[in-house]
Amino acid sequence: MLNIVLFGPPGAGKGTQSACLIDSYNLVHLSTGDIFRSNMKEGTELGTLARSYIDKGALVPDEVTISMLEAEVNGNPDAKGFIFDGFPRTTAQAEALDLFLKSKGIEITAMLALEVEEQELISRLLERGKSSGRADDQNRDVIKNRIQVYETETAILKDYYTAQNKFVGVEGVGSIESITQRLCKEIDALV
Ligand code: ADP
Repeated sequence: MLNIVLFGPPGAGKGTQSACLIDSYNLVHLSTGDIFRSNMKEGTELGTLARSYIDKGALVPDEVTISMLEAEVNGNPDAKGFIFDGFPRTTAQAEALDLFLKSKGIEITAMLALEVEEQELISRLLERGKSSGRADDQNRDVIKNRIQVYETETAILKDYYTAQNKFVGVEGVGSIESITQRLCKEIDALV
C-alpha cells in the first residue's frame, strides 16, 4: 500500500498536486480541509464547529480532526493507498495517525513536502481567494495567521518524519506539471 502525506504550508499546492497524482497511483485523496468545507456547506454540526476555527485561520481541535480522519479511512476499506492532504498538522495528529494505521497493519510510506517561500504563498492564496469563495483566503491577516500556525505547530512534523527516514522535500515552485513530475519521480523511487 502506498500512503503518502502530502505536506506543505497553506498555498503550497497540496490540493492541486493531489488531484494530479490520485489517478496515476490509484490513491484515495483525503483532504481534511475539503471535508471540513463540505460539512460547512451542508451545515452539519461538525461544519459549524469547524467554521469557528477555520474562519480565524486557527486549527480545528485535534480530537475532532483525528476522529473524522479515521472515519474517512475506515470508510474506504478497498483503497489501494491514500494521499493525506492537510493531515497530520500537529505532532498529536501524526502520532495518532501512526497508531491508527499500525492497528490496521499499514503505515505511512513517505512525507512529500512541497517547499514554497512565504511571499509566494501569500500571493497565491490572495489570488485563489478571488475565485474560491473561501473566506480564509480573502483576508491577509487570516492568511498570515495560517502561515504562523504552520510555522509553530506543523513545520515540526518534518523532524517527526525525518526521524522515521520518511521525509522527502520537493521544490514547490514552477509549473503545475513540472512539480507533478518531481513528485512522481520521488514516488516512483519509493515503490
Ligand atoms: P490550506 O492548506 O490552504 O490552509 P486546507 O484546506 O488544508 O487549506 O485547510 C483549511 C483549514 O482547515 C485550516 O486552516 C484549518 O483551520 C482546518 N484544517 C485542515 N486540516 C486540519 C488539521 N489536520 N487539523 C486541524 N485543522 C485543520
